[in-house]
Parts: sequence; C-alpha cells; structure tokens
Amino acid sequence: MQTLRLYHQDAYLKTFTARVLTCRPAGDGYEVILDQTAFYPTGGGQPHDTGWLGGRRVLEVVEDPDTGAILHRVDGPLAGEVTGEIDWNRRLDHMEQHTAQHLLSQVFAVLFQAETISFHLGSEATTIDLDLQALSPDQVEAAEALANQIVREDRPVRVHWAETPETAMARFPLRKPPAVAGPVRVVEIGDFDFSACGGTHVASTGRLGLIKVKAWERYKKGIRLTFLAGGRALRDYQRLDRMTRDLARSLSLGVPDLPGAVEKLREETLRLRRQLRDAQEQLLEVEARELLAGARVVAGVRVVTQTFGGRPGEEVRALAAKVAAHPRAVALFGTRGALPQLFFARSTDVRLDMGAILRQVLPVIAGKGGGSPLSAQGAGSRPEGLATALDLALARVAEGLQASQV
Ligand SMILES: [Zn+2]
Repeated sequence: MQTLRLYHQDAYLKTFTARVLTCRPAGDGYEVILDQTAFYPTGGGQPHDTGWLGGRRVLEVVEDPDTGAILHRVDGPLAGEVTGEIDWNRRLDHMEQHTAQHLLSQVFAVLFQAETISFHLGSEATTIDLDLQALSPDQVEAAEALANQIVREDRPVRVHWAETPETAMARFPLRKPPAVAGPVRVVEIGDFDFSACGGTHVASTGRLGLIKVKAWERYKKGIRLTFLAGGRALRDYQRLDRMTRDLARSLSLGVPDLPGAVEKLREETLRLRRQLRDAQEQLLEVEARELLAGARVVAGVRVVTQTFGGRPGEEVRALAAKVAAHPRAVALFGTRGALPQLFFARSTDVRLDMGAILRQVLPVIAGKGGGSPLSAQGAGSRPEGLATALDLALARVAEGLQASQV
C-alpha cells in the first residue's frame, strides 16, 4: 500500500501524527510502515530525513519501489498512533540545496545552453555535472548573478501535477523528459524553471538567501560545479571572513592590504633564501680553508680526511668541492650514521682517479656509488667500516701521489 506523502502537500510540515500499519524487526532495528508520513525517503538526488517517531529515533527512510510504501528504520518497536518529528535543520538544509540546484541548472541552460547530466547533494557541498566543454570565472560570476537576482526577486516555488509524462511535456517547458511512468509532479520556480521532481523545495526563491559557486573542474566529458546555498553559504562566508580577518590581524594589516602583503612576503622569502644560500657558501669556504690549514701534506698535496655526524650529505659534498677548488688539494670525507656516505674530490692539478679509489674502498662499508676521476660519492650499510674505508682511501691517495711524483 502506498504511504500518503505529507511532504508533497506541505514541505514545511515538521510534526505529524500517523497510524502504524506494520512494524517488523530488520537488522539491528525495526522497519515501520505508516498510513501517512512527513519523512522524506532517499530519492531524486535528495537524502532521506531523520528525526523521531513515537520516541524512537528514525535512522533511515527509504521507499519500497514495488509497493510505493515508505519504510522508516527506527531503533525500537512501535504500534498504534504515533507522533513524528522531522530533524528540521537537516531537512531545511536539503530543501535549500535542492531548490538552488533546480535554479542553477536552469541558469546554466539559459546562459550557456548547458544541460545538467546529474547532481549530488552531499553533506558538505552539492555538485552539478554540466554538459559543457569549458567554463570561465566570468561565466561563473554571470551565472551567480542571474541565480541570485532570481533569489532577490523572491519568486514563488509552485507544484503542478500532470496526468502523464506526455501531458507534462505538453503543458510545461520541462528541462528534461520525466523519468516516471504515472502522474508527474512538476516543480516550478517562478516562471523561470520547470522540473519533474518528487523532492522537497523551499516556498519561494527569497528563502534561499545566497547561492555561491565554490569550485568547478573538468570531470569525465563535462564540468563538475560545486556550490553552496542558504545556511551553508552563510556559514562558508562567515568562515572565510573570519579567516581573512585573522590573517590580516596576524600581519597587522587591513583585509584589503592582504594581496599586496602576500606578494611582498613572497618576494622577501625569495630574497632571504638567496641571502642564506650565499652566506652558507661563504661559511663552507671558511670551513674549507680551516680544514686545508690543518691538512696533512703528501708529496706537496694537502689531503683533508674528516668524518661528519648529523650533517646533510649534500652539504658535505659541497664542502668537498670547496676544498677541491683550491690548488693541490684532496678531500676524503665520510658521514657517520646508519647509512654512511663517502665524498671524495681533488683539485684539477692533482693526478689521481677518485672514482677508482672510491670503488676500491666501497666494499668496506658494503656500499654502492661511483664518479669521475675528479670527484666521487657512495653510500653503504656498514657504519662500523667507515673509519677503515677512509684509512684505506688515504693510503691509496698517498700511494698514488708518491707514484706520480717519481
Ligand atoms: Zn527537486
């Protein structure tokens, strides 16, 4: 038996009384059928209502497609006459988003001949999938302007019934042919939009408050548009307004000065980053000179061996290069840690193959790596071999330098 749908007669009905026709255990609750209900069941893109029925919580409401009965899933058994109360905040929010969707879909049809393929009313935002190749910010603002103009004109939202889909098509300029077989419910937004729809809608466009497009992106072969309406749009505006005020306050500025201040901060960051890099270069050069001053001299070449802990490999490599930029110098550096690294480098006026020396000592730290005759680097997994590897490298360097001198 079809349940009498009170929400079709009055979308603003918040409480009602009804008779329990059946009540049976289902899952971890009960499934109740009433003779009439103001609870909207999931359908037409609009989520179901929640609320209370005879003191029980209404958790879910669905329609039985075979019988047309509306099934209320509640958390306890019910019988006799019961009072129902809709969770009105949730329902009103759905009515606002849903009515705004009708309006926006027609706005995009009128302005850009874009058909609405589908829409989704989510808990945070609503999306409309439009048959459109591209969408510019100017077009979005034009659509927002027209939609909000119709909001401010406070046009009535009316419901019409047509006997069949054919008569509905003949009587009303519907955006899409009705998807139902029997009588068709047509929702009219003030002579602007006519849609076949069984959902709940606000009584006039003024009740939508504000419609705001938040984002749009390419999706499948069209554009997916995300928007907010009514209470959601107000809360979003409050959130953004608070955010910009807090940002401005943190910079001791007025809100209008924010874009200029951000640009200035960006430039300042770039300048500081360059300065920091230059200062680090200079520090490395000072450190390289100090290391060279204390280096052992082998056959007239200054050989620096050093291990570093807790220092980025990139920095140690740069320090080795700084040492090797001086004449007659060799750097043999290692980093301590679970994964030890080796960095070898020499000046251009020294005759040694650093790549070959590295390959000879890598097995000591169970490492891998390589390089050129000028510089080489590698990493291993045997930290306890690091000192031996550097000793071995130093011995090879000394042999090579003494041989080249002969
Ligand atoms: Zn609708």
